[in-house]
Amino acid sequence: MARLAKKQLLNVVEGAIREGGWYFLRLSPIGSHPAQYQIYRDGQSHRVRVHIWNLTRGGQNRPEDEWRIQATGVDRFEPEPDGKTLILGWQDEREVFAGFDFARHRADLGISPSIQLREAALHQAVLDGFAPHNKGNGELAIAFRPDCLAAYVANLESLHECGRAAEEIEMLSRIGQDPDAVDDTEVEEKIAESRRYAVLSTKRALRETGFRKRVLTAYGQSCAMCGIQLRLLDGAHILPTAHPDSTDGTDNGVALCALHHRAFDRALVTFDFEFRIHVNESMARELKAAEHAGGLEAFKDALRPVLTLPPDRRDRPAQRFVEKANELRGWSL
Ligand SMILES: [Zn+2]
Repeated sequence: MARLAKKQLLNVVEGAIREGGWYFLRLSPIGSHPAQYQIYRDGQSHRVRVHIWNLTRGGQNRPEDEWRIQATGVDRFEPEPDGKTLILGWQDEREVFAGFDFARHRADLGISPSIQLREAALHQAVLDGFAPHNKGNGELAIAFRPDCLAAYVANLESLHECGRAAEEIEMLSRIGQDPDAVDDTEVEEKIAESRRYAVLSTKRALRETGFRKRVLTAYGQSCAMCGIQLRLLDGAHILPTAHPDSTDGTDNGVALCALHHRAFDRALVTFDFEFRIHVNESMARELKAAEHAGGLEAFKDALRPVLTLPPDRRDRPAQRFVEKANELRGWSL
């Protein structure tokens, strides 16, 4: 059974933040535990205090399917001022986290502080990405894959609070299994108002995470317009999510680096249904006139003439999305 050193565990956390498409600044010295981070993306930002231990078997006289963290090295969990406190376990064999409810573990930890959950939750998280686990004592633990860490961080207080209502736990499980299986009106009917936003935003985040992962995999983890990798990639929707005909299918997605994603959304660059890449020449002229055209030639030179496409034809941009999106962004090609 692999047990990672504290530094490796924190590397896992940092990798998970990046994998979900977020960025971080480390606020505490390297090697310190708990570690503090500011994580951010798209105007959202959270300050977090991360406690993490290996998940190990329950020990003597404990059920065989029980896993636990032993929270050694801290006397008690402190709240992070203006931020969130994470209590995490990591199971290296399955590559999943367990998240425990800070609100229920604020007292002094005592001599042998351990917090448990069942193996079934870890297994479910491997399959689905996200799995709530009712511990039976009113605490909801949440098991999740690394790519879902940021979604967990964004909503953890409300998610753990769902532990008090069986119907809410059931709905969270279904959202974990398939975010599209639960529609928003059902959430509005069954989830207490104070937790509704968190459940809906978790649902959106899980959809988004799934979409990003599928698109980047389809495109071999590189920008379809310039080929750059460097972990600077987004899964961009061709037809924006706000449009009623938009979907999370890979045929409505394209892998773009941060620069080309922004340029695509602003209609400085696009591609047609035969995948030829076009620069917006009238916009380029306006930029020149306004003396904002610095870098334009380098920008053009970096672009390939045609998108680099996924090998599987089903993953390629569908004509209906491409044409609709170009029309919306004011292109006449
Ligand atoms: Zn690019």
